[in-house]
Amino acid sequence: MSTVVRLPEDAAARPFSPPFNVQKIRADFPILEEMARGHHLVYLDNAATSQKPRAVIDAIVGYYEHGNANIHRGVHYLSEKATQDFESARQAVQRFLRAKQASEIIFVRSATEAINLVAQTYGRVHLGEGDEVVISAMEHHSNIVPWQLLCEQKRARLVIAPINDAGELILHEFEHLLGARTRIVAVGHVSNALGTINPLPEIIAMAHKKHIPVLVDGAQAAPHLSIDVQALDADFYAISGHKMYGPTGIGVLYGKIALLDEMPPYQGGGDMISSVTFEKTVYNKVPHKFEAGTPDMSGAVGLHAAIDYLDGIGMDNIARYEHELLAYASEELSAISGVRLIGTARQKASVLSFIIEGIHPHDVGTILDQEGIAVRTGHHCAQPVMERFGIDATARASFALYNTREEIDALVGGIQKVKEVFA
Ligand code: PMP
Repeated sequence: MSTVVRLPEDAAARPFSPPFNVQKIRADFPILEEMARGHHLVYLDNAATSQKPRAVIDAIVGYYEHGNANIHRGVHYLSEKATQDFESARQAVQRFLRAKQASEIIFVRSATEAINLVAQTYGRVHLGEGDEVVISAMEHHSNIVPWQLLCEQKRARLVIAPINDAGELILHEFEHLLGARTRIVAVGHVSNALGTINPLPEIIAMAHKKHIPVLVDGAQAAPHLSIDVQALDADFYAISGHKMYGPTGIGVLYGKIALLDEMPPYQGGGDMISSVTFEKTVYNKVPHKFEAGTPDMSGAVGLHAAIDYLDGIGMDNIARYEHELLAYASEELSAISGVRLIGTARQKASVLSFIIEGIHPHDVGTILDQEGIAVRTGHHCAQPVMERFGIDATARASFALYNTREEIDALVGGIQKVKEVFA
């Protein structure tokens, strides 16, 4: 189950949890030594993509130097070794998500592809005209558009569960929207635009009471929270390697085996078959049925290294440390006049979206960049969230396990500079 740390009121004033040695962690990330526009880089764009520890970089280099071959098909030494490495990465993901079996782990390109896969396999089979997909008003475009495409194909309806002014799902309204025509619920675990941690146990229990399966978009949760798909009873769970200190180009779809077994394949090609004739193709078993073509072997090896790295620190330690960072940053930024935080949910992870009165977020981002501070500005691929709050864009600082209190102080100093420029 996801860990949510509730902090005491005065937490921001206290020193950070002593067992967490952030300087030691920073030394694991070579890119943090970089200068940006003549300043030490302050990287606060982790929700877009995280930086990679040396262990991940070395694992990828090591794969190409010592272990590269195509998998599953060869009888030779290197092919067997690469296959073992790939399948051992699958087992690492299984342990990370606490899935029951490794065959419930499907390697895909990204969280985006994982969601499209479910929409176009499970969705294509189970939705008909007039059926409904329920999502929330805080979803990333990756958890909106695949369902819109499906709804267009099937003449089905996308139903949106509303959020309140703090950016929290309004649970009783959500429950009310689950009806006889609802075929699937798709919700984010953590919102990339607001930082809200959704109450998955309640959401999933409400849906399951009505026999509706739930897909969780866990792209923003995997780097920050400990995840237990069995305790959550999630039916599908999607993650992206690059957001959790792993490489780009690899992601994972977890699915309950009973659902995966009965779903049709997503793409056709090599490896997803057990036999092919022009008359009839017999599909391979899960997970290979969903992994057509040569997969991202080096990506899987890199993701394995990222999981080992996270395990070495401990997800609960990471969650606690990042929560302290977020509490400190929230307090410091809210104390600046003219700054408004967007997304003030009681349960949040690592994302601080804000606007400054009278100053466009792009100008905020550009001036911060001159100070070597990387934040993201724009709609964060969540335009409906912006619409909900009556704004076009925000500036977003998003934190990782290697960020420090000093970097938040630099952000605060940068915001003061922005205000001076526009004074
Ligand atoms: N969901 C959320 C909440 C995200 O933040 C993102 C990435 N910004 C995605 C899905 C999609 O991830 P990817 O681009 O790696 O597929």
